[in-house]
Amino acid sequence: MNPSNPTAPAETPTGPSNFIRDIVIEDLKTNKYGGRVHTRFPPEPNGYLHIGHAKSICLNFGLAAEFGGKTNLRFDDTNPSKEETEYVESILTDVRWLGFDWEDRLFYASDYFGQLYAWAVQLIKAGKAYVDDLTADEIRQYRGTLTEPGRESPYRNRSVEENVDLFERMRAGEFPDGSRTLRAKIDMASRNLNMRDPVMYRILHAEHHRTGDAWCIYPMYDFAHGQSDSMERITHSICTLEFEDHRPLYNWYVEQLGIFHPQQIEFDRLNLTYTLLSKRKLLQLVEGGYVRGWDDPRMPTLSGIRRRGYTPEAVRNFCANVGVSKTNGIVELGLLEHYVREDLNKRAPRAMAVLRPLPVVIDNYPEGQVEEMEAVNNPEDAAAGTRAVPFSRVLYIEQEDFREDPPKQYFRLSPGREVRLRYAYFIKCTGVVKNGNGEVTEVHCTYDPATRGGNAPDGRKVKSTIHWVSAAHAVDAETRLYDYLFTKENPGETGGGQDFTSNLNPHSLEILTGCKLEPSLAAATPGDRYQFERLGYFCADPDSAPGKTVFNRTAALRDTWAKIERRGDRR
Ligand code: ATP
Ligand code: MG
Repeated sequence: MNPSNPTAPAETPTGPSNFIRDIVIEDLKTNKYGGRVHTRFPPEPNGYLHIGHAKSICLNFGLAAEFGGKTNLRFDDTNPSKEETEYVESILTDVRWLGFDWEDRLFYASDYFGQLYAWAVQLIKAGKAYVDDLTADEIRQYRGTLTEPGRESPYRNRSVEENVDLFERMRAGEFPDGSRTLRAKIDMASRNLNMRDPVMYRILHAEHHRTGDAWCIYPMYDFAHGQSDSMERITHSICTLEFEDHRPLYNWYVEQLGIFHPQQIEFDRLNLTYTLLSKRKLLQLVEGGYVRGWDDPRMPTLSGIRRRGYTPEAVRNFCANVGVSKTNGIVELGLLEHYVREDLNKRAPRAMAVLRPLPVVIDNYPEGQVEEMEAVNNPEDAAAGTRAVPFSRVLYIEQEDFREDPPKQYFRLSPGREVRLRYAYFIKCTGVVKNGNGEVTEVHCTYDPATRGGNAPDGRKVKSTIHWVSAAHAVDAETRLYDYLFTKENPGETGGGQDFTSNLNPHSLEILTGCKLEPSLAAATPGDRYQFERLGYFCADPDSAPGKTVFNRTAALRDTWAKIERRGDRR
């Protein structure tokens, strides 16, 4: 149902569609699930969520919301050794940050251990599962290959009584890790390797983050996932393409058990250039100290991009734009940045900041005088109003806005040249002071009092407008500039014997200290985002403290994606 018009029939949607949405619309039309749409997002709590997960979250929550359905958040915590409470907490925070609400439907696969065990016994009693004494290695050898059928385990034809007894004793902790498994009895000659008597349970004497030591046998993902979906009465179980070959097994379990049958639908994983989206590899970056944590602003994790200053709106727009398909592709990282700029351009207040300061002294400006200049907060948003920025005799400008010996096309400040100071006056350079190395350490200027506000009454023009900060009023700050974390479009591609860390960009972080910010930025709190005029989008970092201001550069102003699109148009 369309929430904006609850009576509108679902089969007359507006807006772009995708094949999964089309399936949902068709199922509503045929009343397949009694008009219900119920999805779930099932992260394994073994790492922080990344931008790929955002695609899945937006798809699952977005579809349900569009059709008046529900979405569960379910931790797929069947694997005891890796799961940590820290990951659970971070996942809850990140899904909420993206803007989605699971209401009272937070579940854990581990809550179902008892029911899953009972279902395993049910399959044993139906002659559909058996306890196997082969080791993991032997199971692999017996499995066969894509071209050769597998061989049946010598333990495959145990009696039901013996299987029930052994499985109970597995549970009771009588056997060491890896000594036995419970396997589904399906077909060792199946063309699908997942159907060759897959393992349902393994013995693992390991502490679980929720069930403690209550269990020493744990269900495999395939045996847990579909039944969890079924218990929650999920209608559309949406997952990524690598699970396509698991679908027959997903169906087999729910059919053999005779329980509610959700439908599994696979879509393409998000891949991004210059980015790795694998929790295992991201963990390696964290543990190896290559980044400062899961929330390092260079990381593709949701906590990283949040710290960097990306907005949930930008991420959702990006996810909607990349779409959903049946073939894996790779998306330009520039496209994500494009949506970040597009969103921040609308909402980020403007401010003036000088990252690499050069002092400018206005010799004819009265010593001790301060004027309040009126600056526009956001030209894209009239309601944002204006603010007062103090102007005085000594200012900072960017080092790169001055050249003693300007090349031809350089129109910013240089000896004898007049430029406009944004929201203030025209100034003209009259001289410089240099240090012993011949470097300019101070620029001297005169200002024209008649040009207050930035226009000359005689109509004379200047070719450039530069930003500035009053030295006496400036807030000192550290800014952190980021570049791509990897130098290769495909960071997984490495030369002989090297791993992906050899593709790390040694210049991905540049820290600038002694930056000068306009005084209004003293009020910034971590997470506040601004456009520093002419420089880019910046976000106050949680490392800020009283007397210490730290900003992250979220994105430069230049939109490389717009260029990519233009290039695309020309082809
Ligand atoms: P990773 O490879 O990063 O460890 P995963 O698939 O093991 O990812 P899960 O926690 O199992 O991570 O994923 C939860 C959900 O998010 C799954 O439904 C999975 O298909 C989906 N997902 C994970 N990575 C991506 C991605 N790159 N693009 C789209 N969906 C993804
Ligand atoms: Mg997984």
